[in-house]
Order: sequence, then structure tokens, then C-alpha cells
Amino acid sequence: MEQSLINELKNIVGEQHTLTDRESLAVYGYDSTPELESCPGAVLLPGCTDEIARIMRLCHGAGVSVTARGSGTNLSGGSISDNRGVVLQTSRLNRIIEVDEENLTATVEPGVITSVLHREVESRGLFYPPDPGSMNISTMGGNVAENSGGLRGLKYGVTADYVMGLETILADGDLLRTGGKVVKDVAGYSLSPLLVSSEGTLGIFSAITVKLIPKPQAKITMLAHFPVLQDAALAVSAIIAARVIPATLEFLDKVTIKCVEDYAHVGLPLDVDAVLLIEVDGHPAVIAEEAAAVEGICGKHRCSFFQTAQNADEALKLATARRTALSALARLKPTTILEDATVPRSCIAAMLQVIQASAKKYNVTIGTFGHAGDGNLHPTCLTDERDKDEIRRAHAAFEEIFDAAISMGGTITGEHGVGLAKKKYLPRLVGESGIRAMRGIKQAFDPKGILNPGKIF
Ligand SMILES: Cc1cc2nc3c(=O)[nH]c(=O)nc-3n(C[C@H](O)[C@H](O)[C@H](O)COP(=O)(O)OP(=O)(O)OC[C@H]3O[C@@H](n4cnc5c(N)ncnc54)[C@H](O)[C@@H]3O)c2cc1C
Repeated sequence: MEQSLINELKNIVGEQHTLTDRESLAVYGYDSTPELESCPGAVLLPGCTDEIARIMRLCHGAGVSVTARGSGTNLSGGSISDNRGVVLQTSRLNRIIEVDEENLTATVEPGVITSVLHREVESRGLFYPPDPGSMNISTMGGNVAENSGGLRGLKYGVTADYVMGLETILADGDLLRTGGKVVKDVAGYSLSPLLVSSEGTLGIFSAITVKLIPKPQAKITMLAHFPVLQDAALAVSAIIAARVIPATLEFLDKVTIKCVEDYAHVGLPLDVDAVLLIEVDGHPAVIAEEAAAVEGICGKHRCSFFQTAQNADEALKLATARRTALSALARLKPTTILEDATVPRSCIAAMLQVIQASAKKYNVTIGTFGHAGDGNLHPTCLTDERDKDEIRRAHAAFEEIFDAAISMGGTITGEHGVGLAKKKYLPRLVGESGIRAMRGIKQAFDPKGILNPGKIF
């Protein structure tokens, strides 16, 4: 990057918020996705909306790319910048601007950490449900850009279901306001939902308004042990078919259980093929009935042991088992390729069979966990990127898994986004006309192609 441009960028955000030393550029050159890295030209940490707008105006004029970055926890290579591009890091934009208890909304800057917002609204008896496993580090900007899901997605939906309004800085530095605090708004095209899950390719969010709901009065956390994997999968479909919608219905297979237990020591059973973590929440009388129904269904599907947390500490321990799954698996081998194949819920058992068969066929270790209630599974290959042959086999296994997901009416990514990692598979899912429509949208928002280039298609 030319020194004159760096100097102008420093004038906008200040010298101390402009990083160009080799170590910083290396650190911001990768995210949580294996096998991908780049070397940005500069990392900028703006402190307000106006600074973002001025950065965009300058980069737009100079034809330099800009990649927004929250905490870099995405799993699709979404925050890997262009070589010599600008990384716009949002950690200084971390204010909760407002919690509006009359309208039940919260407005935040994009760098607010997801769990910080949870704690703030819960202290007021309110609830912001989206809770990605990474919520203690991920940012609201990243969550919106990826339309992140979470453990409570089954009952409460995903980030898109809560975004009411956005303030977005466009590629040329102009400010676009979409939506707001109104519950109903049909004025023109619905631009906020379009910007949600745009993966930093259409604009940079500088403020986000989300919907809040009342905090559920109570919850019951349960863990069901299944000696046979398929029984766990069938129990998931049966719970949903019985019209019980738990807040959380998560699945861990044997490989994952062992890794989690070695890592977190939460007392998971090592002699079963799968466990389901189930949480029901709401009115105490209602959830008591729901919990009983869930226990009955698990029993009918040959669950060998059914555990109900007796207090908040026990519940937290069980939930931690699921939240630590990725970190626990990542300890086993140097490279962890976590995928995001998603199928209709009725196809979970079939999908698990495909995953197991592909792992066997290509002789790779795949642990699977995920949001079973959403049909969103995370087959995770434990490998070593220095072993080129094993990496080739891992990708071949995933190719089969994605093709199977598409053939079952599913998708290549339920919540992690396309980014760089999945763009090869997108045409198989959306076809040529889908890609053409998406390219048209990109062209309308960012004709020079400077916003997070190379992502999605
Ligand atoms: C241990 C672990 C568990 C996870 N669990 C889940 C889970 O349960 N559910 C789930 O959905 N995901 C999960 N993820 C993935 C990841 O945490 C999410 O994608 C998260 O939303 C990324 O947030 P981030 O702040 O790290 O964003 P980053 O990774 O920094 O960026 C993600 C994308 O958002 C864009 N972006 C960031 N900020 C802005 C902004 N202000 N304006 C426009 N674009 C922006 C970036 O350009 C990039 O394309 C997990 C990841 C890890 C490592």
C-alpha cells in the first residue's frame, strides 16, 4: 500500500489506530478458517461512523479494497482481506447506544460483543435470543453480516429474525439507513434483510437495531444418552413431530463427546454413541410438561440415561459441554475443518449416515456436533494441513457431504456463510440464475467491487 494513502488513513483514525507493522498485518491476515490467509496493507480501528465513512470515501477513490472485521471468528474465510487491502476492525465501536424498554429494541455499535448485549438486556428482564457458540467473542456486526444462528435457534430463530434496522456505510462512503424501531414497514424493497448475511460485501454496518423479547421465566436443561447414534437422530425428529419446540436441541457424537470430556471434564458418558442436550424454557408449568414429553420420547428411542439439571450450576455445566465442542475437537489435531451442512430436520438420521460413510470411505476422522433441532450439523474433520493427501481426502469427503445435503433439500451452509471457503459449492445450490441475481445486487451496491472482494462468488 502506498505510503501517501497510509498517511491519509492515519489522518482519519489517528496514528495509534493505524497498524502497518508486520506482526499486526500477519495477525489480521487470518480468521478462524483453516488453510486461508492473506497480508493486508493496513489495519484500521475507526472510532465512529464518520471515520468509517471517510475511510470508505478515500478507499473508493483510490480503488483499494476494504474488509470489515469483528473478532475474526467466522468459519468461512469471510474476514480474510485482499492482499494489500484495508482491514477495518470494529473493536473500538463497542457501545450499546440504547436499550429502549418501551419499544423493546436495542441499538448497538457493530463491535459490541454478543454476550455483553445479552447480559445488559437480561439485567433488565429482557432477552436477545441469538447465541452463537462464539458469543463470548463474536461481535454483533459479524453476527449480522453472517446471519449467525445459535443454540437457541430452534425456538427463537436466528440473527435475521431480530434485526429491525441498520445504519450502513456504503462503498462510496454514503450512509444508508434501513428499517428502524417500527414493527411494520413496507416502504420499498426490504433492504435490511438483504444486508443481513451480506458478509461484508454490500456495506459496513455502523449501527444495528435489534428486537428484544421478554426473558423467559424459567428453563429446564436435560441431557439424554444414546448408545446408538441413529436413535438420537430419530429422537430429534420425534420431539419436533410431537409439537414440542425446545429452545435448544443439540447433538454431540462419540468423537466429540470424548474430546469434550477430555477438555472440560463435565461428566459426559464415554460409552455411548451420541448425546442430546435439550433445553425447554418459558412458563414453569408449561416447561414441566414439555420436559416430561421429551423424556418420554427419548425413552421410546432407547435412550440409556436421562439427566435433568437440578440447579443453575448443573445446567451451565451441561450447556458448556456443547459450547466447548469446537475448542475441544480442535485440540486433537493441528487443523480443524468445521463444516456446516444443513438438511431438513426429518433427514438428520440420513445425513449422519452419509457423514459416517464419507469419513470411512476417505479414511479421515470426522466428529459431528451441531444444532440438530435446526437440521444444522457441524461435521468437523480433524486433520493436519501439512499432510496434503489427508487434506485432499478431507475435502473429497466434504464434497460428498455437501452434495448429499443439497440432494436432501438442504444447504451448503446453515449459518457460517459462504465467504471464500464455500464459494465453489454455491452455484450447485443456487444455479446460474441465482449467481446472476446476486452479482446484480453486488454491482448495484458496490460497482467498483471494493467491499470484501472475492467472497460469496
Ligand atoms: C468456537 C466457535 C463457535 C461458533 N459457533 C457459531 C454458532 O453457534 N453459530 C454461528 O452462526 N456461528 C458460529 N461461529 C462462527 C462465527 O463466530 C460467526 O460467524 C460470527 O458471527 C462472526 O463474528 P465475528 O465478530 O468474529 O466476525 P468476523 O469473523 O470478524 O467477520 C465475519 C464476517 O462479517 C463481516 N463483518 C464484520 N463486521 C462487519 C460490519 N460492521 N459490517 C459489515 N460486515 C461486517 C466480515 O467482513 C466477515 O465477512 C463460531 C465460531 C467459533 C470459532
